[in-house]
Amino acid sequence: MEYKLIDRILALSNLVGHANLAYVEADSHLRIASWNQGAQTLFGYSEDETMGEPLSKLIPISEKALLTCTKTQLLNRAHVNNKGKKIQCDIFYTPIMNFKGEKLGVAVLAKDISKRLKDKASLIEQEQVLSDISGFAPIGIYHVNLDGEITSANPEFAWMMGYETADAVTEQITDFATQAFYDVEKAEEFMFGVYEAEEVTRFRCRLKRKDNSFVWTLCYAKITWNASGRINGFNGFSIDISETVRAEEGLKNANKRLQMLSVVDGLTQVPNRRKFDEYLASEWKRHYRNQHPMSLIMCDIDFFKLYNDNYGHQAGDDCLKKVAMAVKNCVHRSTDLVARYGGEEFAVVLPNTDAKGAMIVCEKVRTVVENLHLEHKKSTVCDYVTLSLGVATMLPDDNNSADGLVGLADEGLYEAKENGRNQSIQKSDPVI
Ligand code: GH3
Ligand code: MG
Ligand code: MG
Repeated sequence: MEYKLIDRILALSNLVGHANLAYVEADSHLRIASWNQGAQTLFGYSEDETMGEPLSKLIPISEKALLTCTKTQLLNRAHVNNKGKKIQCDIFYTPIMNFKGEKLGVAVLAKDISKRLKDKASLIEQEQVLSDISGFAPIGIYHVNLDGEITSANPEFAWMMGYETADAVTEQITDFATQAFYDVEKAEEFMFGVYEAEEVTRFRCRLKRKDNSFVWTLCYAKITWNASGRINGFNGFSIDISETVRAEEGLKNANKRLQMLSVVDGLTQVPNRRKFDEYLASEWKRHYRNQHPMSLIMCDIDFFKLYNDNYGHQAGDDCLKKVAMAVKNCVHRSTDLVARYGGEEFAVVLPNTDAKGAMIVCEKVRTVVENLHLEHKKSTVCDYVTLSLGVATMLPDDNNSADGLVGLADEGLYEAKENGRNQSIQKSDPVI
């Protein structure tokens, strides 16, 4: 199909109009002869106001340049006048020649670039703001590309990681996973998580400093895309939380110590009555489930009031410590528990122990304490500190209880006192 020249010119002029380009023609005297709608918009005058007027009224190009131009010229970023308002434009001007090569006038095409320049300026401004923020932000900011290289980092990140400058970070960290993580398995988890997640990933981890020490951090990461929509790495933020972690550890230790203090008897350093109650209850349940016999020994120092009266309370305390230690040394299974039941009374919980075994331990406790040979002049049963003991064994079922076991062992202890002290009385079915 063939088009006439005029059709092509019309199509071109239509396009120019839609592209918001101002098109102006001037005659050989540089008087405005014709223009399009885009020119009216750009210059702000009506056609009547402008036709026949000098072209220089609209275009900031010298008359000489217009008269002498023989080929298309470009004037970058010139200001055109829109009724006093300056608009930045790129201006092309070209001679209009007839087929004989005679110059008939000049054609000018002006493109409003003020918005583009404004956008660019605001982009530069935004970049400057971001760069300022990143420069003094108290958190580490960095970008990691798909090859694991840190492509940018701020001074805080460099400081946190023990590098001299941000440039040193980007030059030296070429594999984020192996160089920046202190714990290898955490690195794998982190890298996997970042690229799997659409949203921000939050991670608490130890980052490896240049000198191979570590810093506890809270890291946030989010994948980034390039202009064509392909993932090109991730942005990371890291906050140094060493102080928080230290405080948490201190608190944990303090809690552990408090917990310990709450279950240990301050004087004798064996578990206290509270621990005894908890342990007996939990062991009772376990033995109920497993249907194993458990035993309990209750011991009481003979004539301890007289000991205190005779040797003083400090000596009484020392005696209690020695007796507690001796009783503790009589049991060896990890589940056995020696506790201070109260005053000068001690209890020994013997899990998975039948009556025969319990009686053996009971007699051992009695003889070991007697053999400490702690002088006790006021005792009427012996020259030394002695114990009276009651030992009981039960197979937990629905007809008995942990309290019942304590009561039975206490009965034995009472009988031992009644029978003359420094002896063990067993209170259970010997076949258990
Ligand atoms: P029995 O042979 O019948 O057990 O007579 P006892 O004197 O040992 O029994 P009693 O219950 O009359 O006295 C117990 C004494 O233990 C009274 C108390 O002064 C002493 N006692 C209890 N706790 C402590 C302690 O922590 N330190 C000291 N030094 N003495 C204690
Ligand atoms: Mg007592
Ligand atoms: Mg006593």
